[in-house]
Amino acid sequence: MSTRLQVMKFGGSSVGNAECIARAAQIIAKGAREGRCVAVVSAMSGVTNRLIEAAKTAQAGNGSGATAIMDALRTQHETALGSLVSSEEERERVRQKMEAVLTEGGRFCEGTALLRELSPRTLDAISSLGERLSAPLVAAAVRELGLPSEAIEATDLIVTDEFHGGAEPNMDRTRGKSQTRLLPLLERGIVPVVTGFLGASEQGELTTLGRGGSDYSATILGAALDADEVIIWTDVEGVLTADPRLVAEAQSIPEISYREAAELAYFGAKVLHPKTLRPVAQAAIPVWIRNSFAPDKPGTKITPQGQSKGGGVKALTAIQDVTLISVGGPGIVGLPDVVGRTFSTTAEVRANVLLISQSSSQNDICFGVSSADLQRTVDALRREFAQDLDHHKVEHIRVDPHIAIVAVVGQNMCGTPGIAGRTFNAMGEAGVNIIAIAQGSSETNISFVIEEKSIVPALRTLHREFGLHKSAD
Ligand code: ADP
Ligand code: ASP
Ligand code: MG
Repeated sequence: MSTRLQVMKFGGSSVGNAECIARAAQIIAKGAREGRCVAVVSAMSGVTNRLIEAAKTAQAGNGSGATAIMDALRTQHETALGSLVSSEEERERVRQKMEAVLTEGGRFCEGTALLRELSPRTLDAISSLGERLSAPLVAAAVRELGLPSEAIEATDLIVTDEFHGGAEPNMDRTRGKSQTRLLPLLERGIVPVVTGFLGASEQGELTTLGRGGSDYSATILGAALDADEVIIWTDVEGVLTADPRLVAEAQSIPEISYREAAELAYFGAKVLHPKTLRPVAQAAIPVWIRNSFAPDKPGTKITPQGQSKGGGVKALTAIQDVTLISVGGPGIVGLPDVVGRTFSTTAEVRANVLLISQSSSQNDICFGVSSADLQRTVDALRREFAQDLDHHKVEHIRVDPHIAIVAVVGQNMCGTPGIAGRTFNAMGEAGVNIIAIAQGSSETNISFVIEEKSIVPALRTLHREFGLHKSAD
């Protein structure tokens, strides 16, 4: 009988410097002594942003600027290595591994600077270098604790489609590759430390899963390996009732359902990548969110059913990086298929549509998309409706970037009357102007669009209104 298997993911701040990496290594070692343990790691905090900056600097033709960023990253990783590993011989081995990654990165930047062209494929190759640098460091830190450990690149494990910057896994292929590569290591008592964030297409081309995608890497591997649980180690005590940076009174939630956590993630709770719970839903693998800076605290357990003591509202969230697009004008009344054409277009460009609202007179459809998807969405809509715009059937495609979407989430809201009334009353009293509203028929969330500047008063008022500051449900 095989022993219990845990997949543990460490986010950027949990591997942010040598001290954090040493703490992460302790947690991994404890897990590996209790059963089988696969670690998944993010880049050290801030590194992915710096790499993207290097790529953009190179694209602008400034090769030496990109090299300067790479040099700073080399120093940062070597400093961490110096404090983590005591033997010079071992340090040299890890340094060589990191140097090979940095040299590859340097070549990508040189090519980009030369051509002044940055394809999504090259951006993936550059932005994923951080994970390829942190994994050898974490594996070395685990070995320092006396446990055999090996850094593994997820290009050998996670098979994806070719959508660079937001690739989707092929779970069957991933399952086969991950089991073949990782199970024999675990069998021999070796702790695999896998690079988060990245995978490779069938053709072997490196892809990334989207910003914050290491959470997704962890659950993809958890499902592929039939893990008993996935633990996401981060810098807060689990899923909180609101973003603690916006609502200081936010409380940790002991248990929450897949559905609720997915809604929160989808509506911007940065603690989880929006797709994190997809791979584990079918196998009902529990996911924990825990604080690597306070490993004794239990954190949040995410389970299929969650746990509710009534109350209805479990948590609030808000997204700022969104833009409202409206397609409309009186001319669209009676124009067949505007809704269909609008959303086939957003689907074609893989825009993340967060909320949809349509007035009953049908002369305006508005929807919120991530600002990162804005340009390609509007360009595609203008192409799709080019003729209609010419003939004034569709009178406008308008954008408003100065908005935010707030979501009130809780599966017990379903069948609890009065929550929408209390939400909008409270907003009225706080003087928050509501621009659009959406509520799914599942009644797990009410989401609405407000002006960006009202985000903090909106969240703080609702947090009090639903008593979330008292203790978590
Ligand atoms: P990591 O680097 O570990 O992946 P992230 O920065 O991506 O960590 O996510 C953790 C952060 O998410 C927290 O520090 C917190 O500021 C933010 N956050 C936003 N909403 C929530 C929420 N509802 N619960 C917990 N954290 C949240
Ligand atoms: N390092 C990647 C990012 O910053 C992935 C992650 O941290 O989850 O987006
Ligand atoms: Mg994250």
